[in-house]
Amino acid sequence: MEGLLFFPQPLPDESIYSLAVRYHRLAANISYRVTSQELFGAYSRTCGSILPCCLGRLSQRLGTLYSVKDLVDRFTLLPLYRPFVDDVKYRAAIVAMTGNDGTGLKMSLGITASRFLRHASFRYCESCVREDTLRYGAAYWHRVHQAIGTCICPLHRDVLWAMTFPDGADWRCMLLPAEAGGTPVLQSPGETAAGSIAKMQLWGLENPKNVQSLLAGDFLRCRLDEMGFIQSGRTRERMLKSFLGPRLLCGPPAPEFQEITHSSDWIFRVLRPRGVVQPLKFYFLCWLLGLDLEQLKLFPPKDALHSVNLSCSNGSANVANKEDIEARRSAFSSSSNLKCHEKPGYMWLYRHDREWLAQYVALHPFIRSRGELINWGARDSALARELLIANERLRSAEGKPQKVTRAALCRLVAHSHDFLRKPNHFPISIKLMEDLLESSHDHQVRKIKWAVKIYVLDERCAKSVVYRFSGIRVSQVSDGEYSSLLRSRA
Ligand SMILES: [Zn+2]
Repeated sequence: MEGLLFFPQPLPDESIYSLAVRYHRLAANISYRVTSQELFGAYSRTCGSILPCCLGRLSQRLGTLYSVKDLVDRFTLLPLYRPFVDDVKYRAAIVAMTGNDGTGLKMSLGITASRFLRHASFRYCESCVREDTLRYGAAYWHRVHQAIGTCICPLHRDVLWAMTFPDGADWRCMLLPAEAGGTPVLQSPGETAAGSIAKMQLWGLENPKNVQSLLAGDFLRCRLDEMGFIQSGRTRERMLKSFLGPRLLCGPPAPEFQEITHSSDWIFRVLRPRGVVQPLKFYFLCWLLGLDLEQLKLFPPKDALHSVNLSCSNGSANVANKEDIEARRSAFSSSSNLKCHEKPGYMWLYRHDREWLAQYVALHPFIRSRGELINWGARDSALARELLIANERLRSAEGKPQKVTRAALCRLVAHSHDFLRKPNHFPISIKLMEDLLESSHDHQVRKIKWAVKIYVLDERCAKSVVYRFSGIRVSQVSDGEYSSLLRSRA
């Protein structure tokens, strides 16, 4: 395989596409096709992508200059995704980028499903263009500017511009930044969220291992714990949603953010990931939780904390860390009347200061406050009295006699809810209720007595008339009883 006779000296954070454009210019090639053939030994359709393919051939042509891994790490955006994908997927991505066919690569990294790609553009910072031209003699495409969700230059805090390739062409026309017209990707410069996210993305791109440590240390969960969104080891989802709702509206007004600011559902998928988390979602969530790059950098990785803990026990701890640990211990131990899982900083101490936590919990067992015990006996007696009164009220109510039923009695007493749900606490009342309930026969007898009295009925009246006045359709009263009821009137 032919080696390349020359290749541009890579500039800081330069993308593969940018190198290809500068090579194209130096070689004075007439088309992208020629350049692609020379660089990649094939016609690459992904040279302008954030995850370009054909890197195996390019690495071979560059001799010992760069391995495929070097090319991927230095000139593509895969390192930004590295912390969020498992080893198998990462290796598969490298294989795809080594070969000529990158089909399915973006899909496997969840980029296609995220719908962010539809808002992708070739972005540049005007200040970078000026400075790069002065310093290096040419502007070039910065890798981080192409990361999805980067709207502001992390170095200059200027809003990035999206370049429009002329005459409907695409990146194959091999242009460098600002060589065609562009439009700003944000209308409001100095946007705090966009600036903070851009800085975090640049750091994540350059330090994938540190981001891996954050994820391994359950960074976001620790933050939620600090903010009081974790209780008994569970996320207080409703509370978190109501906190994030207004904050989501303060997200950068760029199109890719509009894919995720209309709902907070994606946040729980970032907190409990099943697939690949999009870096933008992770860093945006960091911002939503009030975090910035400095706090990401300060989060101690597990190993470091382990050594801090060890040194603590040896009495030679780092002062800052020692103070931090003391502050957290003090906050934890001063929150009495809470279960240990609910005390502030439990998650943090569990992860970073477990020995002390175990000792503290062993020495301070949680004693559940039993509060005022309910005197069920007194409540039962009171209810029984109420039932007697209710029974009296029902039976003495004016108008046609109302049947004394369970429902009618319950409507007239306090604690009827407890009474129905916890019957074993009310033995006296339950027994009394059984005695008070009126049978259909007794109710009909009461109704006949009432009709006889109200309508002045006697034995001369037809039985059907008496029953009609009494509101009885099917009689359960015997003839003898009926006669004696009518006679009692006389
Ligand atoms: Zn810049």
